[in-house]
Amino acid sequence: MKKIVMKFGGTSVASGENIRHVANLIANYVSQGYRVVAVVSALEGVTDKLIEAAEQAKKGNRDYFREFKQKLLEEHLTAARKAIENKRIQEEMEQILKTTIDELEKVLTGIIYVGELTPKSKDYVLSFGERLSTPIVGGSLRDLELNAQFYTGGEIGIVTDSNFGEASPLMNVTKHQVKEKIEPLLEKKFVPVVTGYIAATQDDVTTTLGRGGSDYTATIIGAALAADEVWIWTDVDGLMTSDPKIVPSAKMLPELSFQEATEMTIFGAKAMHPRALEPAMEENIPVRIRNVFNPENPGTLIVKEQKIKLGDAVKAITLVKDVALVNVSGAGMVGTPGTAAKIFDILGRDNINILMISQSVSEANISFVIQRSLSERAVSTLEIALLGRGLIREVTAEDDVCVVAVVGAGMKGTPGVASRIFTAIARKGINVRMIAQGSSELNISFVVKEIDGEEAVRAIHEEFKLNKI
Ligand code: ADP
Ligand code: ASP
Ligand code: MG
Repeated sequence: MKKIVMKFGGTSVASGENIRHVANLIANYVSQGYRVVAVVSALEGVTDKLIEAAEQAKKGNRDYFREFKQKLLEEHLTAARKAIENKRIQEEMEQILKTTIDELEKVLTGIIYVGELTPKSKDYVLSFGERLSTPIVGGSLRDLELNAQFYTGGEIGIVTDSNFGEASPLMNVTKHQVKEKIEPLLEKKFVPVVTGYIAATQDDVTTTLGRGGSDYTATIIGAALAADEVWIWTDVDGLMTSDPKIVPSAKMLPELSFQEATEMTIFGAKAMHPRALEPAMEENIPVRIRNVFNPENPGTLIVKEQKIKLGDAVKAITLVKDVALVNVSGAGMVGTPGTAAKIFDILGRDNINILMISQSVSEANISFVIQRSLSERAVSTLEIALLGRGLIREVTAEDDVCVVAVVGAGMKGTPGVASRIFTAIARKGINVRMIAQGSSELNISFVVKEIDGEEAVRAIHEEFKLNKI
């Protein structure tokens, strides 16, 4: 009997009809004898709306909040009425939704009063998207006469550190607790329906696993249960040669190694959370990305050792937006050992993660790419720590850039890939600001102006004829 953890993303549960569709899909697998754990995201767009509401609350905007609360309740009530036919379950659901929104009201009111939004209170606010969506999926399953039970990530035993906004699971305790909690439910043929994205610290304070974190929840549970596979249901057929929204002719990749898929997700393939592959890779649990609107398609299978080999060196091209390029320059850096280490140490202590690094041969310049929202902080931190010492002359940041990443294990030891990439880019008259190749040789990434990003992706996709694989 196969044990599968299935994650349903925001688009899969965007409306009451979609939730009904998801419930039918689960019921179908259960009737075939599968044991299913469902992990559910917030309804599409709700997490973004909660961020906005939290920001407005901080500013003390009460009117915004009143309207927001009403709309949020309506949206979920409408979804619940479409997803559930049975009147009794429907009424029960309305009660749960109202109580949950009352709880959210208390939190936001608190933020309005103190005029402060801490990472801790923000995570609590953001947890409400999943707290509202998941019971509706549970209700819809019960409507189909399945024994479904709703839990939050914390209730099911996922424990994290207290790095709010980007918390990491404490895997040993988590695995133990999740197994203890879920196995007996599966034995009894229950379908546990768990909130994605949210978890709790050991003191039971709500945390989140970072944006898109429901994927991570699914693989954490998959690892704890030693599941046969983890299925990430989404709105595209699988991981593709590029984002189909940028390259409409992008093709699905039937099989990828954990390493390649990780490289793709770190560099912008939004179809999965970058850290989601870690727990699966450690326990060697295959992950499948599948289309909830096209379940006949087996999707992309991500495994340790790939059996299907694809022809070309380049497999996929991704685009990372919302980044900034920071330049640190000064003749004092030439021949001074440890300058780079110093810069990275300063940023590391300030919790600023670096995506990409390059240093020119003259050594008078070090450039790196970070998340755009952190660029001001990075510049001022570096200025305070370094400018006075004569080592560097200037720290600047460019905010209108993006990273294009070309990924594929076959690039290793294949000469001429880089020249083909940059010739294709040059032909379009696009200027490259910075280049880096990871030592893994799985990835060549470069920085261009944000307005050129999509065209650069299309040019490389065409050069390597990825629409023909
Ligand atoms: P979900 O709500 O299911 O979590 P997301 O919006 O997070 O869905 O991710 C799915 C989206 O990722 C797709 O609609 C697609 O536009 C985008 N995407 C970006 N790069 C890729 C890629 N290489 N392959 C597939 N999808 C991609
Ligand atoms: N709802 C969360 C987000 O929008 C988590 C997820 O969808 O995976 O980031
Ligand atoms: Mg997602």
